Amino acid sequence: MKSHARVVVIGGGVVGVSTLYHLTRKGWSDVVLLERTELTAGSTWHAAGLLPLFNMSYTVGQLHKYSVDLYKRLPAETGQDVSFHVTGNLRLATCRDRMDEYKKYCGTANTIGVPFQLISPAEVKELWPLVNLGGDADTPAVIGALYHPDDGHIAPADLTMALRKAARAAGAEINEQTEVTGAAQLPGGEWQLTTNKGEITAEHVVLCTGNYARQTGRMFGLKVPAIPVEHQYIVYDESPELKAYRNAGGRELAVLREPDQSYYFREERMGWILGPYEAGAPARFADGVPSWFGKDLFPGELERLLPHVEAAQRRVPGLERCGIKDIVNGPIAYTPDGSPLVGPAWGKRNLWINEGHSFGITAAGGAGWQLAEWIVEGEPGIDMLAVDPRRFGAYTSKRYLVAKNEEAYRDVFTIHYPDEERHDARPVKTSPVYDKLRRLGAVFGQRYGWERANWFAPEGVEPKDHWSFRRTNYFEHVGNECRRLREKVGVIDLTPFTKFEVTGPGAEAWLDGLVANKVPTKVGRIALCHALTKRGGIRSEFTITKLADHHYYVVSAGAAERYDSDFLQKRLPADGSVTLRNITGSRGVFVLAGPRARDVMAKLTDVPLDNASFPWLTGQVIEAGLATDVYALRVNFVGALGWELHFPIEYAHGLFDAIFAAGAEYGIGMAGMRAMESLRMEKSYRMWGSDLTRDNTPLEGGLARFVRMDKGPFTGREALEQQQQNGMPLSFITLEVHGVTDADPLGNEPIFTPDGKLVGRATSGYYGHCLRKSLAIGYVKPEFAAVGTELVVEVLGERKRATVLVDSPYDPQNADLRA
Ligand SMILES: Cc1cc2nc3c(=O)[nH]c(=O)nc-3n(C[C@H](O)[C@H](O)[C@H](O)COP(=O)(O)OP(=O)(O)OC[C@H]3O[C@@H](n4cnc5c(N)ncnc54)[C@H](O)[C@@H]3O)c2cc1C
Repeated sequence: MKSHARVVVIGGGVVGVSTLYHLTRKGWSDVVLLERTELTAGSTWHAAGLLPLFNMSYTVGQLHKYSVDLYKRLPAETGQDVSFHVTGNLRLATCRDRMDEYKKYCGTANTIGVPFQLISPAEVKELWPLVNLGGDADTPAVIGALYHPDDGHIAPADLTMALRKAARAAGAEINEQTEVTGAAQLPGGEWQLTTNKGEITAEHVVLCTGNYARQTGRMFGLKVPAIPVEHQYIVYDESPELKAYRNAGGRELAVLREPDQSYYFREERMGWILGPYEAGAPARFADGVPSWFGKDLFPGELERLLPHVEAAQRRVPGLERCGIKDIVNGPIAYTPDGSPLVGPAWGKRNLWINEGHSFGITAAGGAGWQLAEWIVEGEPGIDMLAVDPRRFGAYTSKRYLVAKNEEAYRDVFTIHYPDEERHDARPVKTSPVYDKLRRLGAVFGQRYGWERANWFAPEGVEPKDHWSFRRTNYFEHVGNECRRLREKVGVIDLTPFTKFEVTGPGAEAWLDGLVANKVPTKVGRIALCHALTKRGGIRSEFTITKLADHHYYVVSAGAAERYDSDFLQKRLPADGSVTLRNITGSRGVFVLAGPRARDVMAKLTDVPLDNASFPWLTGQVIEAGLATDVYALRVNFVGALGWELHFPIEYAHGLFDAIFAAGAEYGIGMAGMRAMESLRMEKSYRMWGSDLTRDNTPLEGGLARFVRMDKGPFTGREALEQQQQNGMPLSFITLEVHGVTDADPLGNEPIFTPDGKLVGRATSGYYGHCLRKSLAIGYVKPEFAAVGTELVVEVLGERKRATVLVDSPYDPQNADLRA
């Protein structure tokens, strides 16, 4: 074993070997992989080898597509067969919501370029002659299906070996029977790893340890939010029906999934493999994998699988006559949202994570590709927020992970509605006024562990979501909340915002070097600032207020707490001139907005509130009601006159009651996240994480007014200069989508020209309740961005006429904000 390497990858499953392979493809050959036993000895050896292209996430969909394309090339590239059976993959639908899910997915697939077909029951039968289309009392009727002709299944061990062969040929070293037992960071930032074969130092370390992620993380001082869950599949003996079909010249049948019965099904040596995702599968190894667990499996738990077995028997008659040859029950790594953890480790330099893979055979190629890009180039090539390990925070306790990972496993095949809010392990984090909001009818959702009111059910209305891809039970009530904010006054509880205090003599210069805008230099000024990647993409968005000399208040998205904290912390100057404090948990936030917001505020504070004394985009430290030290910021995300009140958390109850008492005569009421979504769409306000990501620069995003090329250097500046010289590949637009009766765009819809050419993608969409228009925002090629351009947006499979509107179609002059 070498004593030093540029990168050490820990773990020789398919994910580790793919990472190694991709590092060599990026030209780094001084790379070493350490595997405690032998390659594929973890989950990889017993995986069923399915490669589903289907994924509702734009990011994960791209990773899967890359993998499938790569795996097809590998045999020619390496001379190693990978047994990729391109059988196609058929997902049945037996209810309208399932078809809606497929139609929604089709939008994502179109923007990624994944080929698919929505097919009829007759076409299902043609493709899969052994299927029972149902329609009787026992078996629900198939009403259609989603067909991917390009995927299928692969031999995971062969795939790993092909990647291994190519990596070794390019200079990578692989050491089996080499267990990493300790890690220490050297003062220069390198890692010194202790193994049973001696020590090795590395500039970078990548964790790819599958089921061992918890204990590997501990070695590095991290609580990695991945805990495996049991997953089983049944291997059947030969099927006479299948044999007859194949002997008659039938081609290998497509992988069959019946999500409404939660199972996958494929051919295996003239028999079948049936893999259910069942309720009750337990999380395992929450405290680490015991030393006796090697290349082992758990005993089969057939009882748990029976409802799915029976459903499959009804769908594929003849299955009940096949004997069970084996049950494979192995640990499968899981995270609370079911997506993997791919990216930098938080709080540690030169440490990378590629863990938590539950579809690791499918994702390994794409995850290795992007992680290698990130390590070598300093940035991934695509937006990776959906899989970034820092999307979870310190709230992911062991119990939380056990509950959430079991839920994520159980829900693999449930319909993933756009307004879905999963139930388990809640509440974790609540605003102090949570109970008050409940009493006001709040229907909560959850983000980054925080309970947030999505909408408020008025008296007599059941406070419950009926999830849908279409307008549903809360539509009218959200509309009323929107109108209240536009016409009277309303309150939104945004306590989950991430909040930092940045102080010290170096604070201003340091912050200014991190962002593209000029940070405010005058006390009381507020600026919207973006931290960019080297390629000019938007990494983070901060609202920065100068509270006093050497004292800044920095606010970002609630879900970005660990992501932004890690970014800021890793860049702090070593000279101690700047102090960074994460004060997220110690301040609450109420947004008070609407034309009567000033009247309400006037009853709470003695501070003059007229435009000259308290202009838009300024902030003051005030007293409000009985609360002191309240940061009152005259900004909001709904485009109304108003203030965000950021107050010491202990004042929450009193301040809330005072606001409501003051606002009673003006018809004050609460509004939730869905009203905010509608209102911000009417203002074309871009949301960090969906509209503003690494995929686009602020210039493409139409945010040039927040970029100051005339100031000093900042990351991403050169890329922006190049765009200014060469032109931008994309422009941001707001669209009115015509002819919508019940399904509004919600993001991830492809945008076409009227003659059907794909020219862009909607990143968000919603119904604008006050404009009474169905709206979408997103990016198109610049030649299609002029106001009035006629385009087409595909919403739930239907192509709808759309017209480019002015930016901020509601109140483009911002008269409300400045009122
Ligand atoms: C029954 C079953 C069926 C599945 N079917 C599919 C499927 O059809 N399609 C699909 O995409 N996915 C499937 N999966 C999931 C898939 O198996 C995993 O996602 C994938 O194998 C994960 O690969 P990995 O490299 O991350 O982890 P692993 O394969 O578990 O590899 C991790 C490696 O790290 C090594 N290691 C751990 N700690 C150390 C250390 N300290 N030092 C050195 N080495 C260490 C381990 O020995 C192990 O070899 C299935 C899983 C199960 C259980």
